[in-house]
Amino acid sequence: MSADAVIQLGIKGAEIVLKLTKEALDKAIKEKGANQAVGFPETNYYLPLINAFFKIEVKTLGDCSCVLKEVEKIYNNQAASNGFKLDYLGGVLNKGISTLVCEEILVALGHLNKQHSGFLSDTLLRALGIQLVDGRIAGIAVILGPAKDDEAAVQLVRDFQSKSIVSILVGNVGGNTFKKQLENKKVEIGLDNYIVPLGEDYLSAIYVVNWAIRAPLMYGGLKSGQWQEILKYTQNKVPAFVVLLSHVDEVIVATGLGVLAMGFPIITDLEVPQIGKIDTTLFEALVVEKDYKKIAAKCIETRGLKVKVTNIAVPVPYAAAFEGERVRKEQLQVEFGGKASTAFEFLSTKPMQEVEDGKVELNGLDIDQLKETEKSLPLAIIVEVSGRKMQNDFEPILERQIHRFVNYAMGLMHVGQRDMVWIRISKDAFNKGFRLKHIGVILHAMLHQEYSAILDKVQVKLYTKQADVEKLFPAAKKAYDERDERISGMIDESVDTFYSCELCQSFAPNHLCVITPERQGLCGAYSWLDARASHEISPTGANKPIKKGAALDLTLGQWKNVNDYVYDRSNKTIDTVSMYSLVNSPSTSCGCFECILAVIPEVNGVMIVNRDYPSMTPCGMTFTTLAGSVGGGVQTPGFLGVSRLYVLSKKFISADGGLKRLVWMPKEMKEYLGDRLKKRCEEIGEPDLFDKIADETQAQATEELVAFLEKVKHPVLGMAALI
Ligand code: SF4
Repeated sequence: MSADAVIQLGIKGAEIVLKLTKEALDKAIKEKGANQAVGFPETNYYLPLINAFFKIEVKTLGDCSCVLKEVEKIYNNQAASNGFKLDYLGGVLNKGISTLVCEEILVALGHLNKQHSGFLSDTLLRALGIQLVDGRIAGIAVILGPAKDDEAAVQLVRDFQSKSIVSILVGNVGGNTFKKQLENKKVEIGLDNYIVPLGEDYLSAIYVVNWAIRAPLMYGGLKSGQWQEILKYTQNKVPAFVVLLSHVDEVIVATGLGVLAMGFPIITDLEVPQIGKIDTTLFEALVVEKDYKKIAAKCIETRGLKVKVTNIAVPVPYAAAFEGERVRKEQLQVEFGGKASTAFEFLSTKPMQEVEDGKVELNGLDIDQLKETEKSLPLAIIVEVSGRKMQNDFEPILERQIHRFVNYAMGLMHVGQRDMVWIRISKDAFNKGFRLKHIGVILHAMLHQEYSAILDKVQVKLYTKQADVEKLFPAAKKAYDERDERISGMIDESVDTFYSCELCQSFAPNHLCVITPERQGLCGAYSWLDARASHEISPTGANKPIKKGAALDLTLGQWKNVNDYVYDRSNKTIDTVSMYSLVNSPSTSCGCFECILAVIPEVNGVMIVNRDYPSMTPCGMTFTTLAGSVGGGVQTPGFLGVSRLYVLSKKFISADGGLKRLVWMPKEMKEYLGDRLKKRCEEIGEPDLFDKIADETQAQATEELVAFLEKVKHPVLGMAALI
């Protein structure tokens, strides 16, 4: 088959899909009427592809008919009403885009009839955003069809996992799917394992496409209808590609043309002609690789992915993709901590001469010396480091990485930290030869790999005798307490330098967080100490110091140097930013926020909602809807993306009245903040405030909230007007 024959096949597929969509839509309108509502759950972007490309907000079947008129134009190589038209490859990519848009309508109709599901919510995109920007996810592989056999499926998915690439599984051939192949081999599936099955029909691939198209709207500050910029964004910043296996037909080719228009190359094990670079792809457009051992490498090369390779000398696969893996009871070989035994982990700085780099010492029994019935051991993990640039402030930051580093090992589960730690080792990992010393090997290698700028030496001592663990614990406990004191004692006034975090600029080019001791980054992942450590480690990295300089307004939290820095680094879009206000030049938000603050004018107060809360809030919007107003690196007075712990800060919207403004938060979040929030309420002289902050069991609508606040005499009722 020639390249031209492939394109002809795609043109035929586009025609089939267009016809099918018209028929399906006509039928739906006949049955339900043009005013029948249509849409996807948990999104602000209507039918996202259509919204992004044509700026049409599809709400009814009648709107879909209008969209089909636009589709027919581009299908026939004419410009749509907003000018949408691609001139590449003699216009053939327009057929691909028309196919994608039709497929989006088809799945929306499927949702209407409850015959199709799999739509990926805005919340999921936000949750993955931070992992994409910090490199924990290097790419997204959309795997269409089953592999040639079960072993090949496992090989491919393990290769992707070890390169931190998420596999999304779609399609079937004769009832066989990639998912079933993995299940046959007992591979654990789920987002935590970087494997997401979407649907057994090929149409489900559209959910990945209409998920990817939201990234430029959510993070890139782009508006629906800016189709040229949106396509540029997906081509350059969304690290997705397609792996087409075992089967192809005209509709898959037509969809493939649309996918190529978005910049996502296709790698296949099929005998088809290859297509070199086209205008929309970074490198080759269609590549054949029949050797499954080489497919992952070929994908990385073709999409131009930046993959962090981690080679650690342990007998199990090691990568970020294994971080979320659980070790269940049936798979358990041995566990430490939790309810099973006493365990803790502690990292401290020692003089150079006391640390022998690479030394891993085990005192007590190893796991292969236990009787078959013995399932637990006490454990102390003592990590000692030294380095000319090492500071005591860095110790908790490095110690916190033990959680991540241990979890990256396949077959290991690490939960908690300090003396709340719980570690499990699976039978599989044990049978592959994993022993306790390998925890030391991992910590030594990873601390060097990520923190070599501040560390020169690392040694790890492991203790499994109860008496040793108990004897060593008081020193660790003393250090934990001192650290808590040190961090909680830090205030913005005690430092002359804040830090920027510009990590999210790869997605949201105009956004940066300004991190202060009393205000974390809005994703909750970076404190001031983290940002400072990160700058020390990598001075040219994403965290830069900002000398506060002259104060312009200490109540609002405005400094000249901070404003100048933000102006410069926001591509000259934001000239003034207040650290402590939600209504007066608030910070921008990228999309990774843990929570959103929103003013409720009717009560003169502020509510907060966390990402996991799915229901309606008293401001009349769900988290998803609110998120649509906040992200994209713009200032939105009255709305602000924040971290959960910001609520506990003394600088919590202090320019707007502080904690006393807070009138509502989800019950789960209130329970999470619990005693710490009660303590803050006492500190501000409002010991009853905790109970006066409503949750969804007390108020869901504004009127209910007003009544509740009046009943409990919330202090906000006596405060000055917020806006
Ligand atoms: S601190 Fe801000 S910029 Fe940095 S990763 Fe978190 S949300 Fe993104």
